Amino acid sequence: MTLQKKIVLVFVSLGAIFAIGTYPGLQAVVLPAFQDFELASAQQNLSRVQRALAAELRALEVYNREYSEWDDAYDYALGRRDEYKEENLDTSYWDGVDVDMMLYFTVDGQMLWGKIVDPSHRGELSLEQELPQAITVDHPLLQHGNTFQPILGILRAQTAPMLVSSLPILTTERAGPPAGTLITGRYLDSELIAALADHASVELEVFSRDESGNSPAITSEFETGGELETSIHSHYGNEDLRVHEVITDVFGRPSFLFEVNTPRSITAIGRSTINAAMIFLLAATAVFLLGSWLFMRNLIIAPVATLTKHMLRIRETGDLDHKLVSDRSDEIGLLTQEFDQLRGELGNVQSKLETARDQALALSDAKSEFLARMSHEIRTSMNGVLGMVELLDGTTLNDTQKRYALTIRDSADSLLDIINDVLDFSKIEAGKLSLENVLFDLNTFLTDTVVNLENLAQEKGLSLECQVPPNSALAVSGDPFRMRQVLTNLIANGIKFTDSGSVVLRVTATNDDAEYMNIRFEVIDTGIGIVAEKQKLIFDSFSQEDGSTTRRFGGTGLGLAISKQLIEMMDGSLCVQSEPGKGSVFSFDLRMKASSETAFSASARSLHKDILRPKKRTAAIRALRGRVLLAEDNLVNQEVAQGLLSSIGVEAIVAKNGNETIEQFLCNTFDAVLMDCQMPELDGYQATQAIRQLESESSEDPVTIIAVTANALAGDREKCVAAGMNDYLSKPFTGEQLYQVLSKYLERSERITIQEPSVDRARESVTPESNQPSSLAIDASVLDGLAELQETGSQSLVQRVVQAYLESSEKLALQLHAAIDSADADSVARTVHTLKSSSANVGALKLADLCKTLETAGRQSDLSSAAELHRQIQQEYEQVIDALKLRMKAAAA
Ligand code: ADP
Repeated sequence: MTLQKKIVLVFVSLGAIFAIGTYPGLQAVVLPAFQDFELASAQQNLSRVQRALAAELRALEVYNREYSEWDDAYDYALGRRDEYKEENLDTSYWDGVDVDMMLYFTVDGQMLWGKIVDPSHRGELSLEQELPQAITVDHPLLQHGNTFQPILGILRAQTAPMLVSSLPILTTERAGPPAGTLITGRYLDSELIAALADHASVELEVFSRDESGNSPAITSEFETGGELETSIHSHYGNEDLRVHEVITDVFGRPSFLFEVNTPRSITAIGRSTINAAMIFLLAATAVFLLGSWLFMRNLIIAPVATLTKHMLRIRETGDLDHKLVSDRSDEIGLLTQEFDQLRGELGNVQSKLETARDQALALSDAKSEFLARMSHEIRTSMNGVLGMVELLDGTTLNDTQKRYALTIRDSADSLLDIINDVLDFSKIEAGKLSLENVLFDLNTFLTDTVVNLENLAQEKGLSLECQVPPNSALAVSGDPFRMRQVLTNLIANGIKFTDSGSVVLRVTATNDDAEYMNIRFEVIDTGIGIVAEKQKLIFDSFSQEDGSTTRRFGGTGLGLAISKQLIEMMDGSLCVQSEPGKGSVFSFDLRMKASSETAFSASARSLHKDILRPKKRTAAIRALRGRVLLAEDNLVNQEVAQGLLSSIGVEAIVAKNGNETIEQFLCNTFDAVLMDCQMPELDGYQATQAIRQLESESSEDPVTIIAVTANALAGDREKCVAAGMNDYLSKPFTGEQLYQVLSKYLERSERITIQEPSVDRARESVTPESNQPSSLAIDASVLDGLAELQETGSQSLVQRVVQAYLESSEKLALQLHAAIDSADADSVARTVHTLKSSSANVGALKLADLCKTLETAGRQSDLSSAAELHRQIQQEYEQVIDALKLRMKAAAA
C-alpha cells in the first residue's frame, strides 16, 4: 500500500472514530443536562399552578373574611339577628363573585344556613347530594379551636372538587369568642382549571379519585401517592413530560391529582443542538483532516513521490545525468540533496565502471582475436609436425630411428590434446565458446564414441561396453561434437584409471513430454576410485586427486573442468560417485529435444573449425564420385585444390571469380561448390547469396556450398552460414580433410590406390631439392608434399603450381606497386592477401608472412610502414622467384 493511501486510511479512520465516539458522548453528557433543565422547568410549571391555586384559595379566604368578621354575621350566628339572611344571603349576589357555596355553623357545629349552586347555571344544588360526607361538629373544617386562623383546602364534592375556606365568625373588630364558623367554597371546575392553567401558562389536568374513568396509572398514583415521601412524580413521554402532584382533601386523604403537561421542547432543542454540534464538528473535522492531508501531501508525500519517480526513471533509463533540485531546507530538502549527491557519485562510479567495462571488453576482444589467431597458427604448426612425422614414418628408417619417430608422434599427439584442452578452456573462460544445436542419431553417436576408444581399452586388457536404451535410434538435438568431447574424456579417464575390469557407458532415457527426453549418461569403471574429500576438487581446473596421479598417469587436470562447464552450458550437471578401490561413476542428465526422424539429417550437419586431429595418411585413400565447382581466384590455390580433388577422383571445374562461379552454376550441374570467400568482383559470400536466390526462384534443390577460407577469426563460420553455405574448410587443408568434408556430400566410389611415395619416388622428389643449393626463401617441404599427391602419368603438379605462381605473382607484384604508389589501402590489402596465400602454397613462407603484415596494415588503413614492407616484399619476392626457377630447372634436368 502506498504511503499516500496509508495516510488517507489513517485520516478516514480517525474521522470515523471521532464521529462514532463523539455522538454518543454528546448524548451522554449534553442530553441529561437538557433533561434536568426540562424537569426543573416542568416542576416550576407545577409550582406556578400551586401558586395560582393558593391565590384562588386566598381570594376565597378574603371573601370568607368579609362575611365572617362582621358584627351582623356574629349576631346572626348567635341567633340574635335573623333578618341577616334576607339582607345578605341572597344568592343573586353570587353572580358577581366566584363563590359557589356558603355554609354558616353555630359554635356547636349546627348548620345555620347553607347553600350551594351549580357553577355554570347558577342553579341551586342539593347539599346532601353535593357533599356526600356531611359537615358536622368533628369535621376538620370546623376545628379552629382557639385560633382565628383560616382553614383552607379542597373538599370532595359530587360535581367537582371544591376549594374551601373556613373562618370563625367574629365581630367586625375581629373579636371573639367565635360565634360560629363560615365556610365558603368554589368549585374547581373546568373553567377554573383553565384559568389556573392560563395563569400559570401550562397545560393542566385535574383528576379526582372518585372519578370512574381514571387510567390505571392515575389510580395507582392515588393509591401510592399518600405513602410516598413526595407526592410529586414525573413521567416522561416521547412528546411531553407529565408532572403529577397528588393533593389531599381537607381530611388529609389523597383525593386529587394535578397533572402538569410540559411539551418536551427542551429535550428536542437539546437533540437539535447535539445534531447541529455534530454536523459542525464533523464538518470541522473533515476540513481539519483535509487540510492536514493536503498539508502532509505537499510537505511530505509529493516530494517523496517526485523523488521516487526520479529514482524509477533512473532505474528504467539508467540516465544518471538528470539533476534533482530542491530549495527546501528541511529534512525532505536534505534527503533530496543527499539523493542528488548519491546520484552524482553513482554517475561517477558508473562512468568509471563503463570505462573499466570497455577496457575489459577491448581486452576480451583482443584475447578472443589472439585466441583465434593462436588456434589457427598452432593448428597449422601441429599439422606440419604430425604430417612430417608421418612422412618420415613412410621412409626407410632403422629401428632406433623408427622408435624416435614413434616417440615424436606420441608426444605430438599428447601435445595436440593438451593444446586442444588449453584452447577450449580459454574459450570457455572468455565466454567465446558457443554450442551448436543439430539433429543427430543418438545410437550411432554413442557407438562411434565408444568404438573410437576401443583400442585404448584393448591395450590395457579392459572390456569396454556401451549400453544404450532401446529407443536410442531416435534423433536428438544437441551439440554432438561437444558431447563426444565430454564422453570421450570420461571414458578415457575410466580406462586410464582402471587396471582391470571394465568401463561401461550406460545411457538411459525417459520421456519428459511428447517433445523432450531426459537422457542420463553414466560412465562406470572398476578402477582406483577417488576419495570422498577429493571428489569435488577434481572438477576444478588444473586439479588432480593428488600429485602422484600426475606422476603415474600424466594429464593436465583440465579434462573434467572443461567437461563440467560444457555440461552446465547444456543445462546439465556433471556428478561423481566413487569409492577408493572399487571404481567410479561419472554421470550427467540432459533434457534433449527428441525427433521421430531416425536418420542423420544432412541439412543439420554441423560446421566446426576446431582442431581436428589429422588422420594418419593411409596408402589407400577411398575415392569419391562427383563433380565440383572450384571457385578460386588464386592460380596456385586452383592448382593445389585441383590436384587434391583429382587425387580422390573428383572432377573440378574452375571459376576464377564470383561472376564466373554464377555463370558456371547456371550452365552446369555440380555435386558441390568449393567457394573461396575472398575473390575479386563478387566475393564468395555474395556469389553464394546469388546462387541461393537463383535456386529459390527456380525451386531447385540447393547445391552444397563449402566455404574455403584462410581466415580463422571468430565469427567467420557464422558469416558463412549466414550467407547460405553448408560447410567450412579452412586453408591450408590436407587431402584427407578435403576428402572428409566432401565425403559427407558426394557418393563414395570403389577404392582406388594412390601409390605410396616409394623410397625411390621420395628420393625422386626430394633429391633434386636436397641436391640444389639450399634456399632460405622457400620451404621445400611444401612443394615436396604436393609432389606426393601427383598422379602417375599426369603433368607434374609441382611444376603446374610453380608455373601458375610465376605468372600470377608477377601481375600481383605490379598491382601492388601501383596500389602503394596511389596509397590505396584497400587495394594494397586485397593484392597482398592473394600474394600471401599463393606464396604460402609454394613454400615462400617468409614472403607470405611479410604479405600478411602488410595486409593487416592495409585493412587498418595504416600505410605508414607500407613503403618499407613493400621494399622487403620486393627483395624477398626476387629471392623466391630465383629459388623456384632453380627448383624447376633441377626438376626438368
Ligand atoms: P587429467 O585426467 O588430465 O589429469 P581430469 O580433469 O580429466 O584431468 O581429471 C582430474 C583428476 O580426477 C584426475 O587426475 C584423477 O585424479 C581424477 N579422476 C578423473 N576420472 C577418474 C576416474 N575415472 N577414476 C579415478 N580418478 C579419476
